[in-house]
Amino acid sequence: MTAAGLDKAGGVRLRVDLDAFAANVEAVRERVAPAELMLVVKDDAYGHGLACIVERAVMEGVRWFGAFDVRAGMVARRAAGEDARIFAWLTVGAHEIRSALASSIDLGVGEAEFLADIAEVARETGITARVHLKIDTGLHRNGIRPEDWADVLRAARGFEDAGLIRIVGVWSHIAEASDDEDDAARAAFDDAVAAAEGEGFTLEVRHLAASAASFARPEYRYDLVRVGAFCYGIRSAGGPGEDELGVRPIASLVAPVTSVDGEGASVAVGALDGLPSTLAGRVSFGGHVVRRIGETASQLVRWPGVTVGDEITVFGGAGSSATDLAEAIDTVGEEILVRISPLVRREYH
Ligand SMILES: *Cc1c(COP(=O)(O)O)cnc(C)c1O
Repeated sequence: MTAAGLDKAGGVRLRVDLDAFAANVEAVRERVAPAELMLVVKDDAYGHGLACIVERAVMEGVRWFGAFDVRAGMVARRAAGEDARIFAWLTVGAHEIRSALASSIDLGVGEAEFLADIAEVARETGITARVHLKIDTGLHRNGIRPEDWADVLRAARGFEDAGLIRIVGVWSHIAEASDDEDDAARAAFDDAVAAAEGEGFTLEVRHLAASAASFARPEYRYDLVRVGAFCYGIRSAGGPGEDELGVRPIASLVAPVTSVDGEGASVAVGALDGLPSTLAGRVSFGGHVVRRIGETASQLVRWPGVTVGDEITVFGGAGSSATDLAEAIDTVGEEILVRISPLVRREYH
């Protein structure tokens, strides 16, 4: 086959099955009800493409989106329309706060100074900020320490009374490490919620759990669960399988065979497309052992009947899942997906 022919057949592509995505979303929502789903769309919707994922989720009735940063939040806002709630939990500087307020993005706040910055921008712009206060329940990753919580609530009370902010939520993130640690985190979370309510805030949403805890632990669901991985059909490494979760992978990475020699077959996907080269020797693509992953091509062990132009499934479909690959190199499935280069064409069907 000529180079042009290969081009027409397509090089490496990530195929995203939006109906499978919708089915996963439905399975997660059924599981967590009456808690509501916040679909987490950070890292370009875990590599699946933010705008298309958000548009489909809105069609399925998803109302909350978790966008990590304000830039992604603004893309999500454009895709989701005005009625959706967009939550961003990493905001840097007054400029981003202004953008967030202009796009009606709910802000996660894990620092007292940041709350004051938001109030300042709200005063300037005349837009009341919707704020979700984050309590540090033990992860020590951007959250208000329990010993500072009461002071921050008092400051928030002042800002809310002045019409600058509205405290609509209390949230945190748990390690999902051991049940004991998670239970301690949940107790700290409950204390923080009680203190906020004691301060007179009418909380619209309390949210703590991501995929694993929201699936397995009903008491972690509260009003809202922030789920990414399971909605994309990415199971946790070492956790329950797709059948038990009731979800399936929605993306497959495919690439054509570009040459065949006595030794093996060369496939047009490599490290520059985002494949970890450490997968070599540890996994198979489409059932064929991977011997080497170069920058733009991978060498597979030769198999009978292989011809140039054959399409190989790197992961997804009926083959290995992203998490299967991840487990071979001691990482997690989302790590495989978010590393797929933005230059790799996404196809939706
Ligand atoms: C990534 C993330 C989630 C979603 O985690 P999954 O395990 O993919 O469901 C939820 N909350 C926060 C704060 C996150 O960073």
